[in-house]
Amino acid sequence: MNRQRRNFLKNSALAIGAGAFTELPNSLFAKNIPENFRTGRMKFSFRPYTLELKHVFTLAISSRTTTPVVLTEIEYNGIMGYGEASMPPYLGESHATAQAFLSNVDLSKYENPFELETILADIDALAPGNPAAKASVDIALHDLIGKLLNQPWYNLWGFNKAKAPVTSFTIGIDKPDVVRQKVKEAEEFKILKVKLGRDTDKEMIETIRSVTDKPLTADANQGWKDKHYAVEMTHYLKEKGVLYLEQPMAKEDVEGNAYITQHSPIPILGDEAIQRLVDLKKAHEVYHGVVIKLMKTTGMREAHTMITLARALDMKILLGCMTETSCAISAAAQLSPLVDWADLDGNLLIKNDVYSGTTVVNGKIVIGDKPGIGIVKI
Ligand code: MG
Repeated sequence: MNRQRRNFLKNSALAIGAGAFTELPNSLFAKNIPENFRTGRMKFSFRPYTLELKHVFTLAISSRTTTPVVLTEIEYNGIMGYGEASMPPYLGESHATAQAFLSNVDLSKYENPFELETILADIDALAPGNPAAKASVDIALHDLIGKLLNQPWYNLWGFNKAKAPVTSFTIGIDKPDVVRQKVKEAEEFKILKVKLGRDTDKEMIETIRSVTDKPLTADANQGWKDKHYAVEMTHYLKEKGVLYLEQPMAKEDVEGNAYITQHSPIPILGDEAIQRLVDLKKAHEVYHGVVIKLMKTTGMREAHTMITLARALDMKILLGCMTETSCAISAAAQLSPLVDWADLDGNLLIKNDVYSGTTVVNGKIVIGDKPGIGIVKI
C-alpha cells in the first residue's frame, strides 16, 4: 500500500470516528433519554390529613387516638412522587408547623429532581428542626426519582430485598383483657413489641406471656426514673424472652442510660436520644444500638447514611416508625434489608390509610417491585 493510500484510509477512519463521536451523544439523547428527564419544572404541593388509630395508643408519657400527618406530592412532567410527614404530638411538630415550613419549599427553581443532594441540603438549611416536614420532601423526591428511573430504591441502592427482616407488632399499654385481645389480633407477627415505662410493666409482660411465648421486644419510652430499677428490669426482661430494650430513661440522662447499657444482659437502644446523623457521634458510647426512623432523620437520604455510620461504630440497628400511612412505611422498608430488626407496623395501626405498598407476610416485610418507594394511591 502506498503512502497516499494509507493516509487516505487513516483520514477516512478518523473522519468516521469523529463523526461517530460527535453523533453518538446526540443519538443517545434522542433515543434513550426520555423527554421527562430534561424539561419541565417540579411542582410541589401538600395537604394536612389525620390518621385514625384502631386502638387508643398509650405510651409511657402520653395517650392518643389520632396522629396528624401532612401528605406531599412532587409532580414532574406528569410523574408524581409521594411523601409524608407524621407528627406524633410529643415530638413538637404539628399540622401548623409542617405547613408553615413546607410553604417555604420552592422546587421550581431546580433544573430536575436528580439534584437530590443539593435540593435536600437546601431544604435542611431552610430552618432548624422540622425533621418530619423535611422527610416529607425527601420521601417524595426519592419516590419521583425512582419512578423516573423505573426502579425501586432497594435496587438503586443495591440491596437484596429477600434480606428484609420480620417486623415486630406493637402492643400499647392497656388493661389486661385489651392486651390479650391485641395479642390475638397480632397472630401473624413473629415478634411483639411491648410498651413499658409505667407502674404496670410486669403486669403487661405477664399478661402477654399468659397468651403467647413469642419473642418480645420492649420500649420504656424514657419512662423509668431509677437506673438501678432499670437494670433489674433488664434482667427480668431477659428471663421473659425480651430481645432488646429501647430508651429506658430520659434522653438527657446520659449517665443513667450508659449505666444501664453497661449492666444490661440485653441490648439497650437509643431512640428519643438519637435523632440525626450528628447524634451518633456521642450516642455510640451510651447505647448498644440506635433506633432509626425517617421522621427523625429528615428522610431516606440521612437514614441511609446513619445506617452506614452506625455499622462502622459497631452499633445494632432497629428501623422504626411513627403511626404513618403506607407511604412513609414503604419508604423505610426500602432500607430494611440493611438492619438487624424492624418495627415497621405504623400503617397497620391505622384505620384510614391512603396508599398501599409494602406488605407483611407471615410477619416478614415484603417489599414490592413497583418503582420509587413502591406505593399506589388507594
Ligand atoms: Mg421507641
